[in-house]
Amino acid sequence: MKNPFLFLLFLAIGIMNAQETYLQCGNILDVESGKLLSERTIIVSGNKIKSIVSGYVAGNDSDKIIDLKSKTILPGFIDMHVHIESESSPSRYLESFTKNEADIAFQSTIYAKKTLMAGFTTVRDLGGSGVNISLRDAINKGTIVGPRIFTAGKALASTGGHADPTNGTRNDLMGDPGPKEGVVNSPGDGRKAVRQRYKEGADVIKITATGGVLSVAKNGQNPQFTIDEIRAITKTADDYGMLTAAHAHGDEGMQRAILGGIKTIEHGTLMSEETMDLMVKHKAFMVPTLSAGREAARLAKIPNFLPPVVAKKALEIGPKLEATFSRAYTKGVSIAFGTDSGVSPHGDNGKEFIYMYNAGMPIIETLQSATITNAKLLGEDELGQLKEGYIADIIAVDDNPLKNVETLTNVVFVMKEGIVYKQ
Ligand SMILES: [Zn+2]
Repeated sequence: MKNPFLFLLFLAIGIMNAQETYLQCGNILDVESGKLLSERTIIVSGNKIKSIVSGYVAGNDSDKIIDLKSKTILPGFIDMHVHIESESSPSRYLESFTKNEADIAFQSTIYAKKTLMAGFTTVRDLGGSGVNISLRDAINKGTIVGPRIFTAGKALASTGGHADPTNGTRNDLMGDPGPKEGVVNSPGDGRKAVRQRYKEGADVIKITATGGVLSVAKNGQNPQFTIDEIRAITKTADDYGMLTAAHAHGDEGMQRAILGGIKTIEHGTLMSEETMDLMVKHKAFMVPTLSAGREAARLAKIPNFLPPVVAKKALEIGPKLEATFSRAYTKGVSIAFGTDSGVSPHGDNGKEFIYMYNAGMPIIETLQSATITNAKLLGEDELGQLKEGYIADIIAVDDNPLKNVETLTNVVFVMKEGIVYKQ
């Protein structure tokens, strides 16, 4: 366009006609203050919240109005621990030999959709085959419906450790996986594995600092990294701006992870009082995953669902998680909401609110952990709250969650980045 005035005129008309969405909200729960703001309208323009005004307001004829007058509105939830590629099943251990990457990919699209429809607009995926990286990209492009994903790609373990991909297989199939496959046995290997994940496009780094329940291995809690290996991993992750997470059930491995600079401790099942103090001192966060503890113990009681070596660990470790979480919360350990969905069914993420509340955390604090805390941990300053200029990740439930926590398991409206996915 040669005439600049004509260009500006067209631009102005374009802006005036840009469709906005007016969400007429009965109640908005301000997760920061815990206050209910009644009769407000959220005006969404593009992928952002343009403003929040008092009363029920409508825009131009070209704007869209959504009636949420009988609902309570919240910011989209953030789950810091999911495995979006998989879900527990009796054939899970066989599937690593029978499923191709494409099979995993198609299946994961269903889990991604279920997660978003449950009101979780953002998740951190803490380990899969690497399909999770492509899934993230497909969701970002709009090819597939799902939450915003921050992914670890393939998790890092030591040889025979919780995330060694060849655990439990026949000797000739075990091979000798290395940093590329996520198996490290020295500080140098650790640095290489982090750089490899960065190269592949991972956002965050996950290590398995101790034994785990669902791997085919005898010990569910032994330390599996040296502190030097962990330091090499967290320092390298810092170079690339990657948040670090450590799976940990046993206390010694947990202490090494915290002292080694890991930011979030996943599960934390057998955490001692001393380690809780260490968490506070080093500003580390506990991601409780109470859903996983309950589900693993439940599955262990179903005949032939889990291999015997796994079932034994699930019964020992699973039921201990809630009491530990309760003590850690009381002692002032910072809590980041996370479920380990994939162990429990995808889409049931909201049940974690009930478990946390029953274990002694006030409902508003469970909500803060799933929104403000997690957004901060991920370094996302436009997520986790409903405020002017924030990304329009907005959900609604039927009831006031501060009085009825169960309502959080039935999310009736989901908007992500200004697009409505459930209404
Ligand atoms: Zn996990």
